[in-house]
Amino acid sequence: MDGQWELDDVHRDFQASCRAFVDKRVRPLVDDAEREGRFPEQLWKELGDADLLGLLTSEEHGGSAADGLAVTLLAEELARASGGIAVTVLVSAYMAAPHIVHHGTSAQQLRYLPGLVSGEKVAAIAVTEPGAGSDVASLTSTARHDGDGWILSGRKMFITNAGLADVIIVGARTGGPGRAGITTFLVDAGTPGLSMGRPLAKMGWHSSDTREVVLDDVRLGPDAVLGETGRGFYQIMDAFQLERVVLAAMGVGHAAECLAVAKEHVLAREAFGAPLAHLQTIRHKLAEMAVDLDVARLITYQAAGRMDAGHPDAGRTVATAKFFAAKAANRIVDDAVQLFGGSGFVEESPVARHYRDARILRIGGGTDEIQLEILSRELAR
Ligand SMILES: Cc1cc2nc3c(=O)[nH]c(=O)nc-3n(C[C@H](O)[C@H](O)[C@H](O)COP(=O)(O)OP(=O)(O)OC[C@H]3O[C@@H](n4cnc5c(N)ncnc54)[C@H](O)[C@@H]3O)c2cc1C
Repeated sequence: MDGQWELDDVHRDFQASCRAFVDKRVRPLVDDAEREGRFPEQLWKELGDADLLGLLTSEEHGGSAADGLAVTLLAEELARASGGIAVTVLVSAYMAAPHIVHHGTSAQQLRYLPGLVSGEKVAAIAVTEPGAGSDVASLTSTARHDGDGWILSGRKMFITNAGLADVIIVGARTGGPGRAGITTFLVDAGTPGLSMGRPLAKMGWHSSDTREVVLDDVRLGPDAVLGETGRGFYQIMDAFQLERVVLAAMGVGHAAECLAVAKEHVLAREAFGAPLAHLQTIRHKLAEMAVDLDVARLITYQAAGRMDAGHPDAGRTVATAKFFAAKAANRIVDDAVQLFGGSGFVEESPVARHYRDARILRIGGGTDEIQLEILSRELAR
């Protein structure tokens, strides 16, 4: 993608197949999922059968070994339909599973990846704690040696998929304070001492499952360490790159959907004897939304391309994309509600849910302020 301004044929075809899948398989389930506050379980197998859960997993483990740009396109299309469904899928397949893809031993990969790719298994990633969010290096959950194995204690907060997951990747402190004291572990659902709070009632992402996770002397074997002891912080930071691109792409999806439905609405809705679209101020608002969306999409695709290519400026572009796309999405969904007038504030409107769902994109995976911190440090180098 870097150095070119259009998707190549492979990615364009993939984008079309994602859109077709979402229109046929996801959209019909969204209203019920939102109302019931539940991810539609049957989707896991359908996503697996459509090869959408293993885009970064090797063929040996059932995946298709595609790239981050393909994941970006999938994220955009899923979010056009539903932020809650999108984040559930994307956390399992592209925020948690990549830790196993990149750092797992062959035995760990063999144990978890085929199920995650087929949709039989679900994963979660538990880093945030009640007292440590943006400041990952200050997390206080501990893992202490117990013979050959480990005992984990602590609390994790806001964990997506906690109630659905077969395996949770947990960041815990194995050494001294700061970055070098953190290790990641694979914790299977049902391990004694592991428990979850009730699903949190959230402003948006209603069909996603978010809970507190409690680790009360959870005993793990030596094979539960994922990656290198003391390298967990750096593994988490590496995984943040894709996570941020995916969240930016979700913003692009919400924005694209809202622009499309707002356009239809202002062409159809009449006021003062003509469609709203006859008013220049309305057309200009649409034009501004389209400019914002184009820029957000371009920088997000470029970030994915640079990440895939290992470009030296990938980190800066990823932070720019996360910052810009999340904010642009929030501007666009807000404008869409405005263009719908009173009907935009009603829950069944096609824009209200996107308005609620887009807000978290400025917080999760590193807030706006954290992206600015990354960018300002780069500038001051
Ligand atoms: C719905 C949802 C799902 C989530 N899913 C997961 C998940 O699956 N796994 C997981 O581990 N976590 C998850 N999170 C947690 C999420 O990543 C954190 O909420 C986020 O990183 C922010 O951390 P915090 O909430 O502790 O806010 P804080 O870190 O307390 O930040 C509060 C405010 O202070 C600002 N701030 C903090 N530090 C600085 C700084 N250095 N400079 C300037 N401003 C600063 C922040 O930008 C923010 O505005 C989820 C959160 C939500 C709400």
